[in-house]
Amino acid sequence: MTHSCTEHGHYCHICHEEALIAERKQFVKERVEMWMWNNDIFEIYDETRDLDDEEKEELLQAAADVVTDEASKNQLSNLAFHFGVMIIIPEGAKT
Ligand SMILES: [Zn+2]
Repeated sequence: MTHSCTEHGHYCHICHEEALIAERKQFVKERVEMWMWNNDIFEIYDETRDLDDEEKEELLQAAADVVTDEASKNQLSNLAFHFGVMIIIPEGAKT
């Protein structure tokens, strides 16, 4: 993806980096939304098992941040443990 910037010049590293980060965030957001829709831990497992640890952590953490029920939190926690990555399960379900 290329990004031209009116503020910093035709090609700008700063805004290019920012655009990549924004794109990454959007990717994670959409992935997690789809998981929440399907609500299937095996789908999450299938889609994350071949990723590197950093990506696993990022995606599982993003999912943990949005799930609200204890069962899903436990499943994500167990999956993270299985993969050997560290995620923080937020306390207190908003029910
Ligand atoms: Zn710029």
